[in-house]
Amino acid sequence: MWTLPQQVVCEECGRILYDGVDLRPPEELIQEYDGKCPKCGKKLSFAPKKIEIKSVK
Ligand SMILES: [Zn+2]
Repeated sequence: MWTLPQQVVCEECGRILYDGVDLRPPEELIQEYDGKCPKCGKKLSFAPKKIEIKSVK
């Protein structure tokens, strides 16, 4: 069985914002970081297409 980790990084500085095996909605991550990158302060907005989600059926 595959476990596909989800990794979300800041586009600006490359800081890892989330790294884990649970797929999490981008809105939740953005909220968790108060809407901005803790390192460079870039406003976070994740387009769904930026995150690689593979459906396993
Ligand atoms: Zn950043």
